[in-house]
Amino acid sequence: MQTLKYGYMTLAWIEQGGQMGKLRNIGRILADAVFPPACPGCGQPLGYKEGAREQICGACASKLIYIHEPRCLKCGKEIEKEEAQYCYDCQKQEHRFVQGTAVYAYTDVVQHSIYRFKYQNKREYAAFYAKEIRKQCGPQMKRWHPDAIVPVPLHISKYRKRGYNQSELIAEILSAILEIPMDNRLLVRSRKTIPMKELNNEERVKNLENAFICTQNVVKYNKVILVDDIYTTGSTMDACAKALMDAGVQEVYYVVLSIGKGF
Ligand SMILES: [Zn+2]
Ligand SMILES: [Zn+2]
Repeated sequence: MQTLKYGYMTLAWIEQGGQMGKLRNIGRILADAVFPPACPGCGQPLGYKEGAREQICGACASKLIYIHEPRCLKCGKEIEKEEAQYCYDCQKQEHRFVQGTAVYAYTDVVQHSIYRFKYQNKREYAAFYAKEIRKQCGPQMKRWHPDAIVPVPLHISKYRKRGYNQSELIAEILSAILEIPMDNRLLVRSRKTIPMKELNNEERVKNLENAFICTQNVVKYNKVILVDDIYTTGSTMDACAKALMDAGVQEVYYVVLSIGKGF
């Protein structure tokens, strides 16, 4: 432990090397060797593939199910051919948002990964998630011509307990790599809500009534993309979209890492 501590201090010293880029690079390489990044799927240390550090291990990569066409024109969920343009959920229910898109189906590997990301302080997964979103949904996001990316907020008490908002971590990196400004102050969760997984669709909507508020009365954005980790029934996105539209946003879209099958 002592060696690790001193090793870490040396790395920190090298990292602080200022203009000496070479030393900084050596610092990164050493840090990478001492603390290899973990697979965002299973949490095991990552190896190398074709001379570069893997982003996800082969076993987990093979279990990811990407969302393909045909997609629901509203929520972005993959649909069966007989469902035509909209999924069964979106045929039954109107949404406040204009359209959304997602990277993965909500399978076990994604569920476990998001669990560690949210509850076990695996903040570093955000970089992998953001790159996956850019790869799968970046062109669609650009076509929406957004003025800002807005993370779905946590209630302040949850934020303090967790120490971070997982959606904001993803939104921050997405904003940088897609060059779309992020606004993480616009929307706040003003009320604590019951965990959604315990509720049915109607209860979810009720649970979220007036749960979000805009910090500005007149919002200067026409189009906003919400960012969240999971989409289940859309009640969170609708509640956020309502708050944004009440404050003057014209069109609300969303991007999520994973989308469930719906009800
Ligand atoms: Zn893995
Ligand atoms: Zn749908």
